[in-house]
Amino acid sequence: MAEVKFKRLALIGIGLIGSSIARGVRRHNLAAEIVCAARTADTRRVAKEIGIVDAAYENPADAVKGADLVILCTPVGTYATLAEQIAPFLEKGAIVTDVGSVKGAVVKAVGLHIPEGVDFIPGHPVAGTEKSGPAAGFAELFINRWCILTPCDQSSDASLERLKNFWVALGSKVEIMEPAHHDLVLAITSHIPHLIAYNIVGTADDLEGVTQSEVIKYSAGGFRDFTRIAASDPTMWRDVFLHNKEAVLEMLGRFTEDLAQLQRAIRWEDGDTLFNIFSRTRAIRRQIIDAGQETPEPDFGRVLKSDD
Ligand code: NAP
Repeated sequence: MAEVKFKRLALIGIGLIGSSIARGVRRHNLAAEIVCAARTADTRRVAKEIGIVDAAYENPADAVKGADLVILCTPVGTYATLAEQIAPFLEKGAIVTDVGSVKGAVVKAVGLHIPEGVDFIPGHPVAGTEKSGPAAGFAELFINRWCILTPCDQSSDASLERLKNFWVALGSKVEIMEPAHHDLVLAITSHIPHLIAYNIVGTADDLEGVTQSEVIKYSAGGFRDFTRIAASDPTMWRDVFLHNKEAVLEMLGRFTEDLAQLQRAIRWEDGDTLFNIFSRTRAIRRQIIDAGQETPEPDFGRVLKSDD
């Protein structure tokens, strides 16, 4: 594998994803210096206390000075402003990338500000948890997970190869995709599932005939798994839906048509239709387990406590 090591890595934002990258980079010695920019003093203090960065700046422009790799790790709605702020301070030959869950809107918002002589390669590590902040990260987050890179006309082949090697060194498998295709695939595999979780947990919360304590008491019936997803960061997910509007609305249209089919099958007591759909979906889960993207353990590998 070609040389991966960078001189100075600048992470703009150091939450779950930024701090996981910092930990992985430290562990595998992928950068001589790691710095970050963070909005709040508290986040900068925690990042320094955990020892995952050499310096933490309030102003993102200070972080990118002298950096040969810059990674945007904030909610996607902040990218345009941040790109404009850092652009005059980017070093010639530097690679700018990001980790945003949406790609089409990012290519436009960031690409516009990237100066000549700087490479821009949008990216998305498809790995995460419902936790936020610098203390929530861990170096193993990207192991065996896909990282999708969506090169644009500001990405050189040599930089793409280097960035690919960087993610492989963090444990990821790398896939190259068109930004619009990424947004469509992720709309159905990630964005719509989050929307459904936010909706079902919100609906349960609104039900007048069912008490809060009953919802919590019987949550292991399936609801509990939705609550984990619905606990994800509200700012991040607000930005995902606002910046992947077209693909999400397209997939939501298909989803509601299929939901209507299920609704009709229940109304007309069409057991065959229900059975056939449920059998097909069961096979999908088996494929996900076989692909190493989930544990085959019952109940998602949860360990039963004696009072369960
Ligand atoms: P996070 O834990 O909430 O961290 C967000 C970071 O961005 C924090 O350092 C925060 O600083 C900073 N930030 C927030 N708003 C800002 C603003 N207006 N200006 C400047 N900095 C700001 O979020 P995360 O989960 O790491 O997500 C970061 C990115 O990764 C998002 O674009 C998301 O789409 C993408 N992503 C997330 C996941 C996931 O599962 N979480 C998976 C893949 C990709 P303060 O702490 O100082 O506010």
